[in-house]
Amino acid sequence: MKVTSTDVRNKIKCRELFGNHNDASYLCSMQILDGKKAAQAIKDELKIEVARMAVEGKKAPHLVAILVGNNGASETYVASKVRACEEVGFKSTLIRFEETVYKIRLLEEIEKLNNDPDVDGILVQLPLPKHISNEDVIKAIHPDKDVDGFHPVNAGKMIQGIPSFIPATPYGIMLLLEHYKVETEGKHAVVIGRSNIVGRPISILLSSNSNPGNCTVTICHSHTHNLKEICLSADIIVAALGKPETVKADMVKEGAAVIDVGITRVPDATKKSGFKLKGDVAFETVAPKCSWITPVPGGVGPMTIAALLKNTFHSCKMKN
Ligand code: NAD
Repeated sequence: MKVTSTDVRNKIKCRELFGNHNDASYLCSMQILDGKKAAQAIKDELKIEVARMAVEGKKAPHLVAILVGNNGASETYVASKVRACEEVGFKSTLIRFEETVYKIRLLEEIEKLNNDPDVDGILVQLPLPKHISNEDVIKAIHPDKDVDGFHPVNAGKMIQGIPSFIPATPYGIMLLLEHYKVETEGKHAVVIGRSNIVGRPISILLSSNSNPGNCTVTICHSHTHNLKEICLSADIIVAALGKPETVKADMVKEGAAVIDVGITRVPDATKKSGFKLKGDVAFETVAPKCSWITPVPGGVGPMTIAALLKNTFHSCKMKN
């Protein structure tokens, strides 16, 4: 049966009308994991905390973002991060470099920021131009200011369950699962993608002895042979491969929770921008089968920013 976008909208409407626990819930069990709403709740809490710090005479958290070149998507992401800082009362600074900047110049700037007591968090927007190694730049950021959680010290701590900065996207996903009280214990989670910034860390967090967590995790990647069969056995799917609409309805079992991390700009002449954003999941056909699903946009994206703000806040609080 072909399910149309109207069916999906009706299911969402049905949920809004009847809520979660009622006789009609079997008709409309799919629920949207609304990242915008959950992120707003986190930002509202942070706003209050920042106001309290001001009353106590403490300085506001300060995030410095470094942007190299003028990649359209990176510009958009950095602008959203700066805007979110302003919204909650953080100080933010954007430092821009030309695409042709030498690595040594970038490292000098990071060293200056590492030594600046007013700076709580440093993020370098990735990807960097080809002549600059991501790893060298990430390692240059002091682990105590690495609010993106990419430094090997923070990655190591996360693996061992030692409190640390957790990469913003996986942290945001965990906060989203927590916000909506999605059951994870004992579930089979399939993570598609093994990058250091999404796939690997989310697989570690989901398998951790925590709530959310305690999943049995399978990691899939570009060399996985039987992706469809593995996905069909999943209670939770996290799709983070960057290939639009790879996860199709026939790969998802009824009642699964689906987290779509993918964001790809796909040309669309009807849009003023000339593109639309597509996730890694074929939302319209997958959504009716799910217990929970994130939309793109409005799912993991806003949670990534909320998680970054939380990391920056904690960095500031640790110093205070
Ligand atoms: P990446 O390119 O570093 O990693 C992609 C991974 O997917 C790789 O590990 C690869 O092995 C795997 N893969 C590729 N093709 C596959 C296939 N056919 N089957 C199974 N696995 C396959 O990407 P990334 O940085 O992890 O990002 C993934 C997606 O998430 C991108 O669309 C990116 O834009 C998006 N993203 C979104 C946010 C957010 O805030 N929403 C944050 C980070 C990344």
